[in-house]
Order: sequence, then structure tokens, then C-alpha cells
Amino acid sequence: MQDLLNSPRAKKSLGQNFLQDKNIATKIVNALGITHDDNVLEIGPGPGALSSLILQQNPSLFFMLEKDYHWARVRFDEVKNSLKEKEAQKHQVILGDALNFDWERFGPDWKFIGNLPYNIASPIMWDLLSNHNGFKRAVFMIQKEVAERIIAKPDTKAYGALSIWLQTFTCPKILFHVPPHVFFPAPKVTSSVICFEPLKNEFSPEDKSILNKLLSFCFQRRRKQLQNIFKEFFGDNGLIFLDKCDIKHSLRPENLTCNDFKKLVQIIKNKNNA
Ligand code: SAM
Repeated sequence: MQDLLNSPRAKKSLGQNFLQDKNIATKIVNALGITHDDNVLEIGPGPGALSSLILQQNPSLFFMLEKDYHWARVRFDEVKNSLKEKEAQKHQVILGDALNFDWERFGPDWKFIGNLPYNIASPIMWDLLSNHNGFKRAVFMIQKEVAERIIAKPDTKAYGALSIWLQTFTCPKILFHVPPHVFFPAPKVTSSVICFEPLKNEFSPEDKSILNKLLSFCFQRRRKQLQNIFKEFFGDNGLIFLDKCDIKHSLRPENLTCNDFKKLVQIIKNKNNA
């Protein structure tokens, strides 16, 4: 792992809490189950706690996406120096922003990994894991509270738009928790390592867009009854949509399953296209 004493200060704005424990780094990388056929993208490699272990497993392609020029440069030099030229061509360091990135360039042969910056982990996962081209598996370390929201079930406080969105496109599972003292600087919160397997579904870009709007509209009003939300959103059609999906008018958004939302999306789409 990199000598952090000779490196610039960790940048809070970039969520830089660097993992210092090699056993935990090994557990995270092993959870991705890398084979030589896999392509791997690491988000936010920083000083390389995970990157050097991934390199050792020799995936088919290994890309690293880092926003901090300093750490992108360090990773670039590592790849250049440590590998034979032919192998180095299989590895790329991309200086870029995971919040504004074209995930469509990655497809079903890719696995994703990262100790994500806590402040932007949710939007990164939201976009990346619903990418239309699919993926093989993803393993991320994120804030424990966010991990618990992702796997939450209906009728619970933690259940919301993030749970429904990610459970629509993936099967998420918390693997283990990680205490703050294994990072430098130590964050204030406990972390969790979460694994995502893709779910096969027939969601078109149009379906995705309808679900996205529906979730945002519903969960901005999570304490309201669906009948009020749907009347406000769809006018006279609102109650018809609920009836067609056998959903009681008096329920609230947090009472609906992912399947309920899927059915609603289809009904709304059919109406839009009628
Ligand atoms: N992988 C390293 C580790 O485990 O110690 C660093 C993890 S640190 C929690 C998050 C990393 O993400 C940092 O290297 C940071 O510079 C990078 N980062 C922050 N915002 C980013 C963004 N928008 N796009 C890409 N990388 C980002």
C-alpha cells in the first residue's frame, strides 16, 4: 500500500478515507471473484489498497477511474512500471468523474469494485447498476446506513427510492461490516461491503425513465396516501392506474413492493403510448 505520509493530505471533498488493512482489502477483492476472463473497473483507486490486489489477479482488462489527478498519476505510473508492455495495454487509468461518466461503454463482461466516496456513493450506484448494458457483479464498500437502505424491505423506515431502484435491477447482499479505525483518516461512520448480482429484467430506457420519475415523486411525499399522490401526479387517471394494479388507495409509497412499482410502470407506459 502507498506511503500516505509522503502523499498530499486526504481531501475531504473527495471522500478520501483510505483503507489501511490488507486483510479487509483482500476480502473485498476476493468477493468479486475475478477470473482471467473478467474485465474489472475500479472506481476511486486512490493509493491502491484494492488496485494492487486486483492487478495480481490478472483480469482480462482492468480500468481505474479516479478524479484526483495525484492518485490517477500514481496509479498510471504503477501500471506502467510494474507490468510488461503487452500487459500494460490491458490496463487503463481514466482521470474522470464517476458522477458524470458514460457507463454505457461497459457491458455484461464487466465487474465493478470500489471503496466509494461516501458522499456520492448513492448516485454512482444508482446510475451504474441500472446501466442498460448489464454487468457481471459489483462489490462496493459504502456507509453502513446506506447499505441498510439498499437492502431494506417494504414497510420499514429504511425502505425508499434507493431500495426499490437497486432491487429492481440487482440482487444486493451485505457481506460484512468494516469499523472506522481501519481507514486513514478514520471516518465517523461504520462501513459495509455490499455485493450486487444483476437481475434479468425487460426494462427499456423508457421504463427506467418512468420508474425514476415515479420514485422521486412518490418518495418526496412518503407520508401521503397513494390516492393523493397519484391524483396530483396523473389527474383523473391516477386512481385508475392504482386499480389496474390492485393497489389500495390508502397505502403509502413505503408499502409498495418492487413488483408493484414494476406493474405501475407498465400501466403508465401503456397509457402514455395509447
Ligand atoms: N480505493 C482507495 C482505498 O480503498 O483506500 C480509496 C477509497 S476513497 C474512500 C475514495 C476514492 O474515490 C478516492 O481516491 C477519491 O479521490 C476518489 N473519488 C472521489 N470522488 C470521485 C469521483 N467523483 N469520481 C472518481 N473518483 C472519485
